[in-house]
This record gives sequence, structure tokens and C-alpha cells, in this order.
Amino acid sequence: DVVPITRALISVSDKTGLTELANALAAAGVEIVSTGSTAATIRAAGHEVTDVSTVTGFPESLDGRVKTLHPAVHAGILADLRLEAHEDQLRDLGIAAFELVVVNLYPFVETVESGAAPADVIEQIDIGGPALVRASAKNHANVAIVVDPEDYDEIIDSIQAGGTTLRTRQKLASLAFEHTAHYDLSVSAWFTENVYDQWAGDDAELGAEILDQFDAILGSAADSDLEAEMAFPDTLVIETHRGSVLRYGENSHQAAALYLGEGGAGIAQASVLHGKEMSYNNYVDADAAVRAAFDFDEPAVAIIKHANPCGIAVATPTATDAIASAHRRAHDCDPVSAFGGVIAANRIVTLAMAEAVSQIFTEVLVAPGFEADAFELLSAKKNIRLLELPEDYRRSSMELRQISGGLLVQETDAFDEFDSSTWQCVAGDEADEATRADLEFAWKACRAVKSNAILLAHDGASVGVGMGQVNRVDSCHLAVNRAGERAAGSVAASDAFFPFADGLQVLLDAGITAVVQPGGSVRDEEVIAAATAAGVTMYFTGERHFFH
Ligand code: 5GP
Repeated sequence: DVVPITRALISVSDKTGLTELANALAAAGVEIVSTGSTAATIRAAGHEVTDVSTVTGFPESLDGRVKTLHPAVHAGILADLRLEAHEDQLRDLGIAAFELVVVNLYPFVETVESGAAPADVIEQIDIGGPALVRASAKNHANVAIVVDPEDYDEIIDSIQAGGTTLRTRQKLASLAFEHTAHYDLSVSAWFTENVYDQWAGDDAELGAEILDQFDAILGSAADSDLEAEMAFPDTLVIETHRGSVLRYGENSHQAAALYLGEGGAGIAQASVLHGKEMSYNNYVDADAAVRAAFDFDEPAVAIIKHANPCGIAVATPTATDAIASAHRRAHDCDPVSAFGGVIAANRIVTLAMAEAVSQIFTEVLVAPGFEADAFELLSAKKNIRLLELPEDYRRSSMELRQISGGLLVQETDAFDEFDSSTWQCVAGDEADEATRADLEFAWKACRAVKSNAILLAHDGASVGVGMGQVNRVDSCHLAVNRAGERAAGSVAASDAFFPFADGLQVLLDAGITAVVQPGGSVRDEEVIAAATAAGVTMYFTGERHFFH
């Protein structure tokens, strides 16, 4: 399996070590075929070189875009000379084979790093080079491919030893594919980043080009003036790429698209396994649902309507089918509102859960996966969208929100280091274990509710939710009304402190047994006094979880 070297193709941007290599090849009587400035360098070292244009009968053209891209070159590289038929064909075609190909690619990364203009960067995307590299590596049974000047010495040794061994050629082929893969990754990374850099408007021409592309894609969805609508702040650079164009935005007269964050593994990357395409609102609600369900370590389900939970629950510890138990209990919180809801489960959906979900019209069900029979049952329904989360689902570490003329950025609020041992009991007796567990559940679940948020819970399930009100008293009334008879004996959580005792009093009058809230109001004393007077346990967490 030793292949002697009689003919070599050399085309290198980086001329390091080239003269030494050419000296060794010439000394061994190897014919050298080469491109433009590579040929010039070898010639300058005093060696004979065949120009690639002589081999192809075609001039190097289009500013070097077409040099070696020719059958006379590629057939000479790709012929498998272990096969008689290939040998015969080469002879008939009058093409000579290469046993050595030495290529290194245009300095793409270096060009990007130099701050070159996009048009110059694009010229540095090597096309013929990777084709030579990949063709040679594929045919490593016959050809040695060298992509790194560091490997010239080894090749010189091989030539002097009478040829390259299969082992060497295999190793070189593996390095070669690694080389082209990295090269293409750099190119694709540049595209991803640069597209948005340019969108920022510092290169008006390319910016307009990108908006044209955006127009072309969105054109069929809306004939609106996208350039005006998509007026992003000048300095905005986000590593995203367009995922899909949505039918419309929050309302039917708004054009919309989904962009995927670079390296994201969230709801945007979830696979739609079944059902109609996701809408803008579906995505918003599915994100809220998943955020809520994944705040819990134990099996949990959240049912979302208009970005708020109408039910959220964990499984009862004794349940035989944990996720089905969590779903049933989440649903029971507010069965009326659950109609047309978006459901997230933090465990694989089982048949029992699927049977329950299939009874109720549901827009979206998102989960880490579906058992086969559960999927079969649910996918028989036309109207439900079934989404599978990426295996490594995680929330983004940053949250962005557009305001007119700008952008707000914040760290994501999370319970990653949830620790209730820091809670401070400020009224009543320390809670017993079960009450404590309910308070922890309520506190976590409350975070999924838009502020002002009040959530009543019992046995690891929400029983009443008061959401999105402009004062806390109204949220308390809503939660109590929703809970009805279930308010008595439940525990309560409030996402922010009670500024007065009045909101808490609504809960106390309804018969809650314990409450958890951040504390920190100037009227804390008043609020503590109300809880104490009612004999109700109250904890301060010291941490607020607004959600707007
Ligand atoms: P030279 O400096 O010899 O003129 O060109 C060497 C470079 O051209 C190498 O980096 C090689 O990868 C690249 N190259 C070889 N053939 C082609 C081709 O047909 N098209 C393009 N775009 N690049 C090529």
C-alpha cells in the first residue's frame, strides 16, 4: 500500500515551507503542477512547474474564482487506480493522476479578523481549495493530501522512503476533513454574525440587501413596508438567524417571523411533531408554559392562557402516573379557562395524560417527549400542536425586550438556587411539613403569574390565581373568587410585598392558613400584625419575582 509520488499538485495561500518542499520534490524528480502565485514562487526557487492552466487547457479566470475546478484536475485526483476501469478511463481521457496534493486555503479567518469589508471577506471564501482537499482525502487509497506546512517534513521523508503508506494517507485524510469542516464553520459563523452587523446599518448597501432578502421571504406573508417596520436600533448586534416566517404576529395585520438564537435550546428550537404551524401567540404562551413547568424538579404541568397560568400543579407523591396526576390537578384549578390552553409538561407525556388532554380542546402541548401510544392518540386530533423540546432544553440566560427606540436587556429570573431555608417566619407558628411544601410550591408557581400576582395553592396544585391586576387587592379578590370554597385551608403566595394590609386581609378573610411573600414594605409591621391577628403563618423570602 505504498504509493510512490511522481506527480504533485500544489496550490497554497500560505507559502511557508513551500520552497523546501519544492526542492525535495524536484530532487526526487516529481512533476509539479501549480496555480498562479504558488507556481511563481516555485519557479523563483529555480524549479520547473507546469501551470494548472496548461493541464486544464482553460485559463485561471474570474479573479481566481476558477483555477483548479476542472475535470482534468479532479479526475486526476479522484481516479481509484486500484481499479483497472479507472486506469483505462484516465488513459482514454488523456489525464495523468496525482499522488500528492498540497493545498492550504484562503486565509478566511485572518481576513475577517483584519476588519475587511464584507465584499473582501466573501472573496476569501475558498471554493476550489476545499474541493481539492476533499477529493484527495476521499481518494486517500491513492492520494496523499497535505493541508498544513507542519506536515511537509513527513511528506519529504515519505518521498525519500519511496512513497506514502496507507496509514500516513489515512491520517492526512482525517486531518484534511477536519480542516475543511473548521473552515466552513468559520464561514458560517461569519455569515450569522455579519448579517446582523450589517443590518445595524454601518454598510447601507449590504443592509439594504439583507432587508431585500427579508422582504423576499416575508413578501408572501405581507406586502407591508418592512423596512420601516423592522427599524432596529443602529447598534443592535444579536447572534440570531431567521427560523421561520410566522403567518402573522399577535394580530392578523402584523407581519412576524421567528428568529433562532445562536446556540439556543429553548422553545424556539422545539420540534413541531404534529399539527398546524405554530403562531406567534402559540410561541409566547408555550414559552411561558415551559418556563412555569420547568421551575419544578418534580413532575409538573402548567396550563397557560394569554401568557398566564390558569392552572399549575406538581404530581401527588403517591400517583401511579405522575405527569398525568400533575396535569389533572393543574386542569382542575380552572377547567373553564383551560379550554384552548397551551400546556407544558416537564416529563414525557404518558397515555393517561394524553387521554385527559384529548378530552379538552388544546392549542399546544409541549413536553420533553411523548410515549408512543400517547402520541398516537393525540396526533389523531387535527387541531392540537405537539411540540418536543430539545433534549438539552434550557432557558436563555438573558432576556431582551424591545421598547420604542431601544432595547432592554436583563439576566433571566430563575430559581436555579432555590433555597427556602433563608425564609424568615414573621407571623404565626413555623409551618408544618405539608404546609411548608405547599408554600414552596405556591412561591415557585406564583413566579409564572404576571404581576400583580397572587396564587393560592393546596396539596401542590394551584386552586386560585389572581393575575395581572394594577393593584394587589384586586389580584387577591380574583384569586379568592377563582378558588371559591377551596380558598379556605389553602396557602397563598404573593410575587411582591403587600404595600398595605388590605390585600392580605382579603386572603385572611377567605381562610388561608399560611402566606409567603418577599416582605420589605414600609408598612410590613401593619401586614405582619394582620397575619398575627388571624393566627396565620407568614414567611418573608427577601426576594421578589415580578413578571411583566
Ligand atoms: P495561488 O496563490 O497559487 O494563486 O492560489 C492558491 C489558492 O487558491 C489556494 O489557497 C487554493 O486553495 C486556492 N484555489 C485553488 N483552486 C481554486 C479554484 O478553482 N477556485 C478558488 N476559488 N480557489 C482555488
